[in-house]
Amino acid sequence: MENRRVFLKKASLLTAGGFLAGKSGIAKAATSATTTQNATKIIGLQIYSLGRELNEDVAGGLKKVGQMGYSTIELAGYNNGKINGTNMEDFKKMADDAGLKITSTHVNPPVREYLAENKQQIMDFWKKAADDHAKIGVKYLIQPGQPATRSTEEVAYVAAIFNEAGIIAQAAGLQFGYHNHDGEFARVIPGGSESIFGRRGFGRNAPKGMEIIYDGLLKGTDPSLVFFEMDVYWTVMGQQDPVEYMKKYADRIKVLHIKDKAVLGQSGMMNFEMIFKQAYANGLKDYFVELENYAGGTQFEGVKGCVDYLLNAQFVK
Ligand code: MG
Repeated sequence: MENRRVFLKKASLLTAGGFLAGKSGIAKAATSATTTQNATKIIGLQIYSLGRELNEDVAGGLKKVGQMGYSTIELAGYNNGKINGTNMEDFKKMADDAGLKITSTHVNPPVREYLAENKQQIMDFWKKAADDHAKIGVKYLIQPGQPATRSTEEVAYVAAIFNEAGIIAQAAGLQFGYHNHDGEFARVIPGGSESIFGRRGFGRNAPKGMEIIYDGLLKGTDPSLVFFEMDVYWTVMGQQDPVEYMKKYADRIKVLHIKDKAVLGQSGMMNFEMIFKQAYANGLKDYFVELENYAGGTQFEGVKGCVDYLLNAQFVK
C-alpha cells in the first residue's frame, strides 16, 4: 500500500513537473523535496475548504492538493450522483490522477426536522447516496448537519434514525458517521422546546434529565452502526474539550476534523499536540483538515498553510 501511495505521489509530481516547468524550476524542486521527505504522513482534506475555487478547475485543483502533501480527501457538495455539478465517476478519475484517495463524504438528507412522516424520504435519500458513493469506493458516509433536537426525546429519535441510516450504509459497504458543529454541545431536557446554550443549567441546580445533545447522540446510537467524526474546533467552540471526549469515547470517535479558527496552529485556541497524541493512543487513522472563511489569501493558499503546519509538526506521524 505504502509503495503504491509513494508511487502515485511521484507519478503526480511528474505531471506537476510538466505543468510547472515553464513557470519555475525552483518551485518544482521545493515541492519535490517536501513531498518525498513527508511521504509517510497521511493527511486528508475536506474539499469544502476550497470553496468555489475548486469548481473552477477540478482536475487542476486536485493536482495542486496532491502536490501540497495531502493524500486523501473527503467530499462535499453531493447532489444526485454529482459533486458540485461534476459526475462522481469523473471526479474519482481526477482524484486518482492527482494521487488522492477519496475516503469519505459529507452528505445531508433533504430535511432538518426528523419526523415519522418524512422518515421514508430520509431513508430513500440515504439508500441512493450510499449506492452512489459505493460505486467510487468511498469508505465513510458522514452527515455534517445537525437535525432539529430541542428535547431529549428528539435527540433519541434522531439517534434512532442514525442507526437506520447506519444499516443502509453498511448494506452498501460503507460506514455511517456523524460530524458535529458547536450546537451539539448545547443541552436539552425531557419534554423541552429549545437547546440550552452556554453555562446556563450547570451544576446542582441543573434540571432533571438534562443532557448534552452530543452525549445523547452517542448514547442513542449503536456503536456497530454509527461512528463519530469529531470536529475538534467546533467542540472547543461548544465549550468542551475534544481530548476529554476522545478519551471517554475512544471506540466511538473514529475520525477527526482538524480545524482551527483559520489556518491550523495560528489562533492559539487549539492544542493540536494533545489532540494528535490522544488520536494515536486511540489508534485513530483518518482525519481531514478543514478551513473555513479564510481572509488571508485564496482558499488554496490557506489549505497549503494547513498542510505545511502538519508536515512540519513533530507530533504528527
Ligand atoms: Mg468540520
